[in-house]
Amino acid sequence: MLHLLGALVLVATMVLVGRLATTEWQSVHKASESLRLLEQLRRGLVAVEMVSRERGPTNGALGDALPMAQQRAQALQEARARTDQAFEALRQAVAAAPRSTADGIHLVQSLQTARSALVQARADVDQVLALPQAQRSAEAIRDAVQGMVAVVPLLSPVTNPLASAAQHAYPALGDDVQGARLAAALREYAGLLGSHFTAALVKAQPFSAAERRAIDETRGRIAQLRTLVELRLQLPDEAQAVSQAWSTVEARYFGVAQALLGQVLAQGDGEGHYGLSAAEFAALYVPEMNPILALRDALLAQARDRAQQEHQRALRVLVWALAGSGALLLVLGGALYVIQHRVLQPLAKTTRALKALANNDLQAPLPVPLADDEMSAVIGAVRALQGQTRRRQDLERERDLLIEQLREQSETDYLTGLPNRRAFITQARTALAQATRYGVDMAVLVLDVDWFKQLNDSLGHAAGDKALLAVADVVRAELREGDLAARFGGEEFVLLLSHCNREQGLQFANRLREKVAAAQVMGVADPEVRVTVSLGIADSAHGGWGLDALLSAADAAMYQAKNAGRNRAVAASVSPD
Ligand code: GH3
Ligand code: MG
Ligand code: MG
Repeated sequence: MLHLLGALVLVATMVLVGRLATTEWQSVHKASESLRLLEQLRRGLVAVEMVSRERGPTNGALGDALPMAQQRAQALQEARARTDQAFEALRQAVAAAPRSTADGIHLVQSLQTARSALVQARADVDQVLALPQAQRSAEAIRDAVQGMVAVVPLLSPVTNPLASAAQHAYPALGDDVQGARLAAALREYAGLLGSHFTAALVKAQPFSAAERRAIDETRGRIAQLRTLVELRLQLPDEAQAVSQAWSTVEARYFGVAQALLGQVLAQGDGEGHYGLSAAEFAALYVPEMNPILALRDALLAQARDRAQQEHQRALRVLVWALAGSGALLLVLGGALYVIQHRVLQPLAKTTRALKALANNDLQAPLPVPLADDEMSAVIGAVRALQGQTRRRQDLERERDLLIEQLREQSETDYLTGLPNRRAFITQARTALAQATRYGVDMAVLVLDVDWFKQLNDSLGHAAGDKALLAVADVVRAELREGDLAARFGGEEFVLLLSHCNREQGLQFANRLREKVAAAQVMGVADPEVRVTVSLGIADSAHGGWGLDALLSAADAAMYQAKNAGRNRAVAASVSPD
């Protein structure tokens, strides 16, 4: 029962531990997954940034006369190389990510689409660049610029799923990821806004209505994004780096860069005398956008920090959960072991010993107490019970022995060791009853020492006792198996002989008489001292007589022998009736 309970507790604990460990392992996994996704998102946003940046040298080159300035060509080449590098880094990250195949294929395809669009846009730009400045129509330049601009939205199907996946893995990243995307979008629109100025600056013409519309739209969108970022940055747990980055954006992009744009716009409203070339404009405008990227990176870094903290927290909890569970299991196992070895096994052994004790068996071993506890008290009590039982058994044995001794003593003549009168009468009655049933001849002999009083008087009572012992020895020696002999009292002995008729009884009596007469009385001073006996015999004549009748008949015959001169045997000649 206790085993079952123990097993249940163990299993329940293990299930709980398993649940806890699984949950925490999932947290760890999700946190590390969110870290990986954040890195991929970062590369996606960098790819967007590089495409935007590439537009700077591209637009600058579009405004240059042929042959293109060496420096400008190099800047374009470098920008393109940077973009290619960013695309390759993103491609590798996306390809390496263990994502569900459908998602993965979709991302890779979207990236390829964006990449093809980029290649096509560059080809279109190169086509325009191949023409001398005069032959480049404003429309062709706008189209080439637009081609580059159109690449950026094509990266959204890459960055959007990455952003939502990162947020999904660890929802606390939502605000930072959202903020980084807003910053990236702001950078993109800021770049776009700059691009809208390029054609007019290149041609040194006032802004067309379409250009004004595009500029206003983009500025509106930028204002929107600014509000969203501001709202986003009002959150309480913002890192210092993020707030500082935003201050810099406010000062430089919304301060310096916007002032520059307002100035150029005001001049452009006139006759198109801007006072600066497209390249000069770009050189002033583009650096002011960098703080937006710094903001984006600060937000991404903050997200990464959060994910890392979550990863470490989950890992810590997992380790603690595992260690705690291990300790719990150890304690439980230890407790079960202790219960098994200190309680259950000793209890079973003690119970066996108690059961044996109930059957008066003291051999069953008791367990050795392992500690001074309740179990040792129980064992001690059973041990005490065993001791008591042992003492009681000893006493009972002693008592039985005593009873047996007493019984023997009460049936034995103290001097000769022969049965006494009482024992004789009891045993003789039984033997006679059996003999009567089977019609067996029985004979009773009564033996009396002659002149015994004289012996006592002349040699002393002790010599008389020795003489009685000599007679008893002879009687004992002559007794056959199944016969009975007893000292009846004083110097008188009685014998019951089975399968014995009158003649046989007489023969036996005479043999006894002669042996007694010849026997030396040991232990007396005079070795010549002898005693004689007179005997009377009465036989049952085919089992016919009772004990009393046989005894009195034999007694009478013995007196006849005395009267006839002693030292002789007389058989009762007539029936004792
Ligand atoms: P009889 O030949 O007629 O039998 O003569 P008796 O002397 O043997 O007979 P009596 O009955 O006159 O004497 C028996 C004596 O036996 C009397 C008693 O003092 C003695 N006596 C009885 N019991 C013992 C005993 O245990 N030890 C000794 N030493 N003497 C005993
Ligand atoms: Mg006598
Ligand atoms: Mg006598």
